[in-house]
Amino acid sequence: MNNKRLWTRLLGVEGVVVEAVDWEPEEGLVVGVRVGWRHRHRCPHCGRRSPREDNGAGRRRWRGLDLGVTRVWVEADAVRVRCREHGIVVAAHPWARHGARFTRAFEDQAAWLVTQMSRSAVAELMRIAWRSAERIVERVVAEARARVDLLEGLRSIGIDEVSYKKGHRYLMIVVDHDRDRLVWAAEGRNAATVSAFFDALGPERCAVLEFVSADGALWIEAIVAQRCPQATLCTDPFHVVQWATAALDGVRRDTWNRLRRSRDPGERAAARSLKNARFALWKKPEDLTETQQGKLASIQRFNRPLWRAYLLKEQLRLIVQTKGAAAVAMLDAWLAWAQRSRLPSFVELGRKIRRHRLGIEAALIHRLSNARIESANTRLRLLHRLAFGFHSAQPAIALAFLKLGGLCPPLPHSP
Ligand SMILES: [Zn+2]
Repeated sequence: MNNKRLWTRLLGVEGVVVEAVDWEPEEGLVVGVRVGWRHRHRCPHCGRRSPREDNGAGRRRWRGLDLGVTRVWVEADAVRVRCREHGIVVAAHPWARHGARFTRAFEDQAAWLVTQMSRSAVAELMRIAWRSAERIVERVVAEARARVDLLEGLRSIGIDEVSYKKGHRYLMIVVDHDRDRLVWAAEGRNAATVSAFFDALGPERCAVLEFVSADGALWIEAIVAQRCPQATLCTDPFHVVQWATAALDGVRRDTWNRLRRSRDPGERAAARSLKNARFALWKKPEDLTETQQGKLASIQRFNRPLWRAYLLKEQLRLIVQTKGAAAVAMLDAWLAWAQRSRLPSFVELGRKIRRHRLGIEAALIHRLSNARIESANTRLRLLHRLAFGFHSAQPAIALAFLKLGGLCPPLPHSP
C-alpha cells in the first residue's frame, strides 16, 4: 500500500486524495487533501454535481479521530458551487456532514459514546466541549431521520410523556409497540402536541392504527377517538398500578398524621416507623429487604386499614400481570372489594377505574401494555441523567432518538 492510500485508510475517510501530511507542534497532524473526482463539486443538500462558483469559503480544517495520542486534522479547500435548486452553497465534503467541523468517523464515534457514558467522560475522551457533542448528536440524528421514516407501518402505538429537566419540562413521546422503538417526540404535553403527532402521521396512516395506549388522560383519549376512531384505546396498566400506589400512599399519610398527633407514646412511635415504611409498601414483595419485611409484618399486626390498602394495591398489580379474561374477572372482584374497603382513597380509585374500564379491559384482553413505553421511559430518564443537563428540548429529543429510535450509528471501525 502506498503512503497516500495508507493515510486515507488511517483517517477512515473516503473519496479523497491525500496531498500532504504535516506536523504542527500546537495542533498535531494536519493531512492536506482534496476531494476525489467522483465526489467533487456536489451540492451538500441534493448531491447534484454543480458548476464551481468560487473558492469563497477558503481553506478549512476538520477534526478527525486521534491517531494514537495525537490530534488529527483534515485540511482542504472549501469550494462553493451553484446548485440549480439550492443556489450558491459550500460544496459537499465526503468525509464530513454538512456544516460540521469534525469528520464523519469522529462524529459517529462521539455519538456512540454519548449513549454509553457520562457527558464529562465523552468530552474528556474526545477532547471536545460538551456543546459540540450536543451539536454532533443533533446532526447525526437529523441525517438518520431524513433517511428512514419512523412513522411508516405503525399498527400499535403508545403515547406518554417524559420529563427532561428536573420535572418541569416535558417531552411527549410516541413508541411503536411492535418494533419497540421511539418514533416521535416533541416538546410539551398538551392537546396541540398530541395533535401535531397525528398531523405528522397523516389521515391514511391514522386510519390503519389498531391499538393506541395512553396513560388514561381523558384529553389524550378524546384526540385519539377523533383522529383514529377505528383504533382500540387502551389504558396503560402500568399507570393503573401507579394510581393504586398513590392511593396507598394517601392511606399511609392519613394514618401517620393521626398517629403522630396521638397522646399515646406507643402510637407516636408507630408513626415514626410508618414514616420510613414508604418503600416497604411500594416495592414488590419479592424485592423487599429483611428490614422492610419486618415493617410490613408490623403494619399487618398493628394497622389493619393500611394493611388492607397494601393488599388492594398488590392485588391490582397481580391482575395487571395476569391479563386476559381471567384478569377481567379478577378486576370485577377487586372493584367490589375496593368499594367496601372503607378506605376513601380506594373507594375513589375504584370509581376512577370504572371510568376507565373499557380502556383497561382492552389493554388486559389484547395483552397490550405500556410495559415497553414505560421501559423506554425508564431508559430515557437514565440516559438523560447520565448525559445531559438540558437547557432546551432539541438536544433532549435528539439524544432520545439516538438511543431509543435505533438511530445511533455504528462505531467507525475498519479492520
Ligand atoms: Zn442542491
